[in-house]
Amino acid sequence: MPILPGSAIGVLGSGQLGRMFAIAARRMGYRVHTLSPDEDTPTGQVADVEVNAPYEDLDAVCKFARAVSVVTFEFENVPAETAAAAARCAPVRPAGHVLHTTQHRLREKTFLSNAGLPVTAFRRVASLDELIRAARELGLPAILKTAGFGYDGKGQYRILGEADLPAAWKAVGESEAVLEAFVDFDCEISVVAARSVHGEFVHFGAVENQHRNGILDITIAPARVSNKIGSEAVEIAREVLEKLDVVGVLCVEFFVCKDGRLLINELAPRPHNSGHFTFDANITSQFEQQLRAVCALPFGAVTQLAPAAMANLLGDLWNEHEPDWVAAASVADVKLHLYGKLSARPGRKMGHLTALARDTEQALADVQRARAMLVRNPESKPAL
Ligand code: AMP
Repeated sequence: MPILPGSAIGVLGSGQLGRMFAIAARRMGYRVHTLSPDEDTPTGQVADVEVNAPYEDLDAVCKFARAVSVVTFEFENVPAETAAAAARCAPVRPAGHVLHTTQHRLREKTFLSNAGLPVTAFRRVASLDELIRAARELGLPAILKTAGFGYDGKGQYRILGEADLPAAWKAVGESEAVLEAFVDFDCEISVVAARSVHGEFVHFGAVENQHRNGILDITIAPARVSNKIGSEAVEIAREVLEKLDVVGVLCVEFFVCKDGRLLINELAPRPHNSGHFTFDANITSQFEQQLRAVCALPFGAVTQLAPAAMANLLGDLWNEHEPDWVAAASVADVKLHLYGKLSARPGRKMGHLTALARDTEQALADVQRARAMLVRNPESKPAL
């Protein structure tokens, strides 16, 4: 049974992903409730109801879920018990098993390799001895990552030689971790896709991602890769969503190896930063597809109206002065998104810009020019 406009949707988490979801949902006449431990949040500022409670407060989670027709999330690192508590009181989409797999790097990689999907070579390590053995098996350089929670390059340690192993083991807290072979990739791409309660699949094609310090910096849509690589990535994404039985949106991030092989780096079971351009560039955005998926409505068209590029605005841009919004607004084909975060810290995602143009090179040049114009004082210019 579809959940119709006028109904309330619950969002666990309260960041920018929930904010853009809430904007899409309110546009279609839904009400939005959000729950997180924070107040005056990016999602809460545009939601109908902002509940302020820790994710561990299962009574609050149940009460929250009882007040809505369906619960979804914008933050996958909520405890499994939170998703389970919500599921006792309302449908949760995607279901808790999707969270369980994707919020833990080791479980995610094990699922992918058991499913026969291409994933970066990895080993589970639970002691320094195991780490030394794994490093010999995989070869160096390699990257040691915490097995559990981690995003945007957090909880990672690059190992260049054997001498780095003890420090790396300390850096991940001397607890269960994943050693990953270092991939000397050609580029990084991702596919944001959605799957309905009936198993229908839609996708936004392969897009190209450039990272800086482990954080997404630029997305170029479509990716500048061959059609063969683009369609292979989409087929892998289709398999991931089917095998994980996802109802909702999921992003698959890939490395494109020098020989053209694709390796999955990571999954995110929700709209993703690399799909933000769809808000301006596609007939239906990733956020609206999430809404349609969780409400069991038919999907909208994913048609992209023009080549696009997205640039993140991190807290570093605030530097000493408020960025020059007027200057950036003077680039007419660039759309400004700000998330309403109360304080700008280095590395914090504060907003993004999306440029639409006749080709991707132009979109990329425009979005970079607009971002550079935000900086008032060239003396204290952060690296852009
Ligand atoms: P992650 O948080 O695991 O997605 O890592 C953030 C970024 O670090 C990735 O998007 C890559 O740019 C880089 N990275 C992570 N793992 C590897 C790897 N095994 N080989 C090369 N680069 C990596």
